[in-house]
Amino acid sequence: MTSIEWTNETWNPMRGCQKVSAGCKNCYAETFANRFRGVKGNAYEMGFVPREVPGMLLKPLKFKKPSLVFVNSMSDLFHESFTDDYIHKVFTVMREANWHIYQILTKRPIRMKQLFDSKLKEFSSLDNIWMGVTVENCKAYKERVSILRNTNVKTRFLSIEPLLEDLGTINLTKVDWVILGGESGVRCRPMEESWVQSILKQCEEQNVPMHFKQWGGVRKKKAGRVLNGRTYDNFPEFKFKSKPTKSELKQIKINLEKQFFGEPITMSKFGPLASAENSVISFDFGTVISSNHEHVAIS
Ligand code: SF4
Repeated sequence: MTSIEWTNETWNPMRGCQKVSAGCKNCYAETFANRFRGVKGNAYEMGFVPREVPGMLLKPLKFKKPSLVFVNSMSDLFHESFTDDYIHKVFTVMREANWHIYQILTKRPIRMKQLFDSKLKEFSSLDNIWMGVTVENCKAYKERVSILRNTNVKTRFLSIEPLLEDLGTINLTKVDWVILGGESGVRCRPMEESWVQSILKQCEEQNVPMHFKQWGGVRKKKAGRVLNGRTYDNFPEFKFKSKPTKSELKQIKINLEKQFFGEPITMSKFGPLASAENSVISFDFGTVISSNHEHVAIS
């Protein structure tokens, strides 16, 4: 489980990233990861250095029920450090574990589009994979939204978070969902209500469901997420497929293990598959640590 309002679970088959734009300034994932830098055996012993985590690849098979799954709350799937082959494996898991819906958010849409035009083409028509870009300001809107619009996928969304300035007029053609929110934390940058109202109005005019995540601020709980006297918890239309039977699930796991690792994987190789990023962490270092960290929308 996760505390992010617009998803049910997080899955981090990669960890670590590097800042690319203004929205990254107070990246929570980086702060969190660096807290554990140098702590022997911790999943974040390497801090925020980008790396693939093969031991987490099959984690979606362990979620108890069909869920909305935020992929890479602690990284960016299209960071240049990650190989095309490894990214392909992540998508293969999403195709096979198709009773979940996966939400992927990036600030690197050029690589996303290039891959959907080539190596990831076979995943374009999957309706359980939602692809999104972060839009924190006008520059990001200009650079990212048209690339997303032209990426060959079924469901597209924008995470307008943290909103740092008035976006003015926005074109939501081929956008299926908008998440909107302000920055939180001690160094947060303010978000004005008029910017929020403008986006809400344009979402309503263009029939795009909007999820208002939070006002943000130093005390984000106190600031809450009420807008115009109500909450906005809208999603694109979706329906979960039913979870496979135990024996079907076992077979899917065996097939994926053989495909990825050449054999069914064992505890000694990666550790327990039940580990969760926000409670029990680590595969790549073989040690387990608990932490109550808060996830925020990043990437
Ligand atoms: S906000 Fe996202 S893209 Fe930026 S550094 Fe953090 S994880 Fe990477």
